Amino acid sequence: MKWIKGDFLHKGKGKSIYAIQNHPALVWMEFKDDLTAFNGKKTSSFKGKGALNRDMSSLIFRFLKGEEIENHWMADVNNTGMVCRKLEIIPLEVVVRNRLAGSTARKFQFSEGRPLPSPLVEFYYKQDELGDPFVSSEQALAFGFVSDGEEVEFLKTQALRVNDKLKTFFDSAGLELIDFKLEFGKEKPEEVDGSLHRENLNSKNRFLLGDEISCDSCRLWDKKTGDRMDKDRFRLNLGGIEESYKKVHDLLYRSFPAVRFYEDKLRKDKV
Ligand code: UDP
Repeated sequence: MKWIKGDFLHKGKGKSIYAIQNHPALVWMEFKDDLTAFNGKKTSSFKGKGALNRDMSSLIFRFLKGEEIENHWMADVNNTGMVCRKLEIIPLEVVVRNRLAGSTARKFQFSEGRPLPSPLVEFYYKQDELGDPFVSSEQALAFGFVSDGEEVEFLKTQALRVNDKLKTFFDSAGLELIDFKLEFGKEKPEEVDGSLHRENLNSKNRFLLGDEISCDSCRLWDKKTGDRMDKDRFRLNLGGIEESYKKVHDLLYRSFPAVRFYEDKLRKDKV
């Protein structure tokens, strides 16, 4: 399939979004080399970062599809592009924590790495100017970020399912998944209607997993050494950012046969 980049739609911190000609239900997500932290207050970049994050996100989304966790990934284009189902993203960051680190560790003055008895799901309001404040389930409902209790439950259950799959996924590459952030959205039925991808619209128009899953959105610690292998290297001025992103990328691509399994399944389905 030849995808033709259309109009520019949106500029994010790490990605830009474009339309795709003749495919109103899809978007072209372009991963950039920019690095940002602390809600955009600290910025940098390195050459090749966009390609590394695209590759990691693509591998993870394909793996999740193979595990029956539906998401927006459709195809990779060039070195830094991803064709995705177009979603209206809700303004909630859904964070899952296996150990305490970052903002929640700071808030309660607990040490980083403190284990949790079971994974913790938290919501944050996606609003850089406010510093992405914590949102309770009740607030998410009261402020209309979700329509009903069923949607809150869906987000929590789906985030925990993703955590289960990703913990094993990273573990097999020698990495411990400390925490991560997910974003969800819905497709617009009128855009999906009549398009080639109509069959993709889930019957209840439930939330679909979107955005990216990469070293920018996960905390990953080396299982043997405990070294931080993610954006904390940039946040905490630890150096070796580029090397860590590259190492995680290579470890995942080397050690993950399940994605090939998913692609085999796709090929078989076509026969
Ligand atoms: N995270 C993210 N984007 C954000 C905030 C957090 O991708 O805007 C990720 C972050 O990389 C970490 C997890 O979500 O893996 C939990 O982040 P936390 O709430 O601890 O915030 P932080 O310490 O990053 O401010």
